[in-house]
Amino acid sequence: MAPASNAHDQDWYSPQGLLSRLFLPLRRLGLMPDPRTRTRTHSHLHLRHDPGVTAIDLAMMRRAIELAKQAAAMDEVPVGAVVYQGSRIIAEGYNLREATCDPVTHAELLAVSKAGRALKDWRLNECSVAVTLEPCPMCAGAMVNGRVGRLLYGATDPKAGACQTLYRITADRRLNHQPVVIGGVLAEECAQLLKDFFRQRRADIRARRDGEQVRQPA
Ligand SMILES: [Zn+2]
Repeated sequence: MAPASNAHDQDWYSPQGLLSRLFLPLRRLGLMPDPRTRTRTHSHLHLRHDPGVTAIDLAMMRRAIELAKQAAAMDEVPVGAVVYQGSRIIAEGYNLREATCDPVTHAELLAVSKAGRALKDWRLNECSVAVTLEPCPMCAGAMVNGRVGRLLYGATDPKAGACQTLYRITADRRLNHQPVVIGGVLAEECAQLLKDFFRQRRADIRARRDGEQVRQPA
């Protein structure tokens, strides 16, 4: 698909574009929504006042965090996802790229794929997806193709985020479906899992390297 910057250029001089840039510093701080997308970001501090995020959504994101921890225990990058309808869990998934050697086995892609099979319907309009990390282009594409009703994600992903950070695939009106997207749900907890995982991985690499140096003959 065309990079998001094309869409950005188109509305650079429009009143919305000017307004949007005026409020950019506030948006970066998560203090106001981005008017160009249907994505809202917020910290857990004022989730309570946001009618868009329910107690069920929070419970589902907590479940996704548990699934992410299962991934971490298998030495996978900790990302977890839950597909649900009301309070009923339809499918779950966590990142399995290392175990499967399959580059498409991201948590939310697995969960959405399983949900379609469980419901015997690839259209997931009635479903919400809670995933601990902002979906990448592939997974954001799956949310569109699966016509997911609502997408809630935790941490933003500066390296691959395709719902708000790098691309806005889920808000792109050239595509035939736009899920409602709410970002930043339990973001601190979701991000902490990733930070802890990569800190541990770096420590393991250092320890291995130091061990190898000790074994070197003098
Ligand atoms: Zn992905």
